[in-house]
Amino acid sequence: MKGQAQIPELVVLGGGLAGSEAAWQAAERGIRVLLIEMRPSKTTGAHQTGDLAELVCSNSLGSLLPDRAGGVLKSELEGMGSLLIACALEHAVPAGTALAVDREAFARSVTQRIESHLRIEVRREEAAEIPSGPAIVATGPLTSPALSASIGRLTGVDHLYFYDAVAPIVAAESVDRSAVFGDSRNSLSEDYLNCPLGEAEYHRLVEELAGAERIPLKVFEEDVHRGVRAGAERFFEGCLPVEVLAERGMETLAYGPMRAVGLSDPRTGKRPYAVVQLRRENIAQTLYNLVGFQTNLLEVEQRRVFQMIPGLGNAEFVRYGQMHRNTFLNAPRLLLPTMQFRGRNDLFFAGQLTGVEGYVGNIATGLLAGWNAARVLQGKEALAPPVGTMLGALCNYIATAEEKHFQPMKANFGLLPPLPKRKMGKPERSRLYAQRAGEEFERWQAETSKS
Ligand SMILES: Cc1cc2nc3c(=O)[nH]c(=O)nc-3n(C[C@H](O)[C@H](O)[C@H](O)COP(=O)(O)OP(=O)(O)OC[C@H]3O[C@@H](n4cnc5c(N)ncnc54)[C@H](O)[C@@H]3O)c2cc1C
Repeated sequence: MKGQAQIPELVVLGGGLAGSEAAWQAAERGIRVLLIEMRPSKTTGAHQTGDLAELVCSNSLGSLLPDRAGGVLKSELEGMGSLLIACALEHAVPAGTALAVDREAFARSVTQRIESHLRIEVRREEAAEIPSGPAIVATGPLTSPALSASIGRLTGVDHLYFYDAVAPIVAAESVDRSAVFGDSRNSLSEDYLNCPLGEAEYHRLVEELAGAERIPLKVFEEDVHRGVRAGAERFFEGCLPVEVLAERGMETLAYGPMRAVGLSDPRTGKRPYAVVQLRRENIAQTLYNLVGFQTNLLEVEQRRVFQMIPGLGNAEFVRYGQMHRNTFLNAPRLLLPTMQFRGRNDLFFAGQLTGVEGYVGNIATGLLAGWNAARVLQGKEALAPPVGTMLGALCNYIATAEEKHFQPMKANFGLLPPLPKRKMGKPERSRLYAQRAGEEFERWQAETSKS
């Protein structure tokens, strides 16, 4: 479509990690793509250049090890012909078992490959509206306000969030069940586990929380941290970091997220002084979220302080808490695991907007959206990868997680269907997850190559 006024069949909004991969995948399957990126004329506050696929912070794309979730996802993306993983491998810098890249060379090579693709036109302007025809929206965590408003009109403002205040998630297997009890305030279910604290334990925890070291905020995040309107005050108000609540007063948490009213510890028959509640995070019940413990503490401090909580002494943190500016949808309500918007088969979302975290996860959803957009435009059915693969598990999570408490997630083995129950250590478990994912992925590739 270079230099000619051909009508695009697909519009991709945002030339970051997900949008670049999506545009490439669709174009490689014969679709004429218009990729709209607002940089360099309008910037996000975090990006520094006008290059496509700029990495905004770390230059690491995570583990390459075949028995790590990140490694499994990368190998699936390689198997599906990912442009960005190929460019990353081409511009890798030594980083042990991780894939780290020379960020400038990486972004330049993606930009050059996309700009020279015969079926992709790159237009440098801000998109202010969701297109009415076939489109992929991949404008990322710092989507411009005009487009955010358009997305809000499509989804309803209640289903679009602007601030990510996430609590840590721990692996269910790493919780010491002898120290916790499993009913909830409102129902007798295993959806919640309660970690009971005595008065002295609670006071020690509050002191440590208030005094622990925090991550310094970036300037463009500070306004939001102070609760200044960034389109998100509804979300922000209910979501103060646990260390800020601890700082407000010794008993603030005991009357807030740690209140033990209505709970009785079956081992003592008494109400604990306070509790930390763990809430089931996924259907398979392999992950638990620390309710109300959204935090901006350093990861090392989170580990130190949260492991003081009864039952969490050996907790494995699948994801640490964090606070940052982030635009994302309530994906379980709005998206299918094919990345399609529910009710509009020709509209896809990809990248961090979908609630997926991590560079490689964002590339992955871009790849799937571009691949499926091409299928739909060619009259085929959009497909979701099997849930036993890392890509399938991630997309399945965002489409099926609990709507009410939806929080962004990166690739991890806890999202995969559980393995048959038998005693095994973490290395063996990881190896088995990876092996099963590899087999399912190969089977799926063989099937889809025929359709
Ligand atoms: C400060 C910061 C630090 C981060 N650090 C890390 C990290 O170290 N590791 C990690 O894995 N993840 C990190 N993330 C998350 C990171 O943003 C994602 O992993 C990844 O970049 C998201 O990919 P994406 O394609 O969804 O969005 P992006 O890569 O941000 O791409 C979105 C693109 O859309 C463009 N755009 C926005 N609005 C419009 C519009 N209206 N019209 C046209 N174009 C538009 C933007 O300019 C941008 O190029 C960080 C995020 C932020 C904000």
